Amino acid sequence: MDYIEKYVGPVDPEVAAAIAKEEFRQSQKLELIASENFVSRAVMAAQGCVMTNKYAEGLPGARYYGGCEHVDVVEDIARERVKKIFHAEHANVQPHSGAQANTAVYFAAVKPGDTIMGMNLNHGGHLTHGSKVNLSGKYFNFVDYGVNPETETIDYDQLRETALQAKPKMIVAGASAYPRTLDFKRFREIADEVGALLFVDMAHIAGLVAAELHPSPVPYADFVASTTHKTLRGPRGGFILCRSDWAQKVDKAVFPGIQGGPLMHVIAAKAVCFKEALSEEFNAYQQNIVNNAAILAKGLVENGLRLVSGGTDNHLMLVDVRPKDLTGKNAEAILESVNITVNKNAIPFDPEKPTVTSGIRVGTPAVTSRGLKGDDMKAMAQAIAIALSNPDSPDKLAEARAIVGQLCAKYPLYGI
Ligand SMILES: *Cc1c(COP(=O)(O)O)cnc(C)c1O
Repeated sequence: MDYIEKYVGPVDPEVAAAIAKEEFRQSQKLELIASENFVSRAVMAAQGCVMTNKYAEGLPGARYYGGCEHVDVVEDIARERVKKIFHAEHANVQPHSGAQANTAVYFAAVKPGDTIMGMNLNHGGHLTHGSKVNLSGKYFNFVDYGVNPETETIDYDQLRETALQAKPKMIVAGASAYPRTLDFKRFREIADEVGALLFVDMAHIAGLVAAELHPSPVPYADFVASTTHKTLRGPRGGFILCRSDWAQKVDKAVFPGIQGGPLMHVIAAKAVCFKEALSEEFNAYQQNIVNNAAILAKGLVENGLRLVSGGTDNHLMLVDVRPKDLTGKNAEAILESVNITVNKNAIPFDPEKPTVTSGIRVGTPAVTSRGLKGDDMKAMAQAIAIALSNPDSPDKLAEARAIVGQLCAKYPLYGI
């Protein structure tokens, strides 16, 4: 970025050099980490603006500091736009991240020690849904649900049985590594049957929901939380949606409950992201993400890899790499060596340790932002298959690297 060179370079050459290298890395590799994306220059510029200087504890029109008239405009715009995108009654756009949004929902709706049900981390859930090493698992009594060993999709009958026994105050739906559509209606029916609140964490699928390519949780859930930086393609951050009757509790849980001053420069960038998400181009982008994922999935299966649950309905897939006699850890390293970035990921009932795993998680939001389409996805599937099938052949790895190099050159990132 020219402004980094211009303003950071003279003051701090070490950091400027690392930023320049990171920019180059992003441009020279194919990014398949399912939770990552490339923001527009408009989002990036808004995030780098003077609003970083402003303290604005409180909410628009009710702040604890003077001089908030312009940041108020930005936060009001962000709230109105996100409500419009998702047809929600109330929005809070201050959570610093997805984890903060989730913590605020727990803080608003349940008490320490209460029972909550969340999806097992090893079956695709998220750390903030009750992992023992996360605040959620330390403060609340989490009971987990997961996928059926045969279908590798959520076992709703089993979930219902567990809920009838555990009598949770809240059920959390949402995942970080689940390739299938979530049945929010079914979650609501089970929650109603046991008298639980329903909280949907749509961090991964928010962009698809915005474009109506995944059913919306808003009509069913008491609370919906999300990140802004995954499929939604905004700055790193979070937000919460709820019905009006929960508005005050949610707002108070965010501030003063768990956060201090909001990051107004990030909220400005969220507002820009939400404007982009209201456009027709954004809907087309989301459709391309899903189409690209389907093409990639087909290509991987045709080349002898196994997909958890047999395929994908959304932007990501979980690839079982055992048919190639690899672990997730090996596969991640092999792909890195041919300039494709993925993360190792446990598959359901994984016999390997979490630091090794039997799978990789692959997602198409970032490469789709870059511009890759149908035939490019086929080429990329080919490159992945060549690398994972021939990890000991320097010639084959070079072949895969060449395919990746051609794709990167065909679709420059931020003009590089
Ligand atoms: C990514 C993610 C989060 C956490 O988001 P951060 O911004 O990293 O805190 C929470 N829930 C789910 C389901 C996620 O995928």
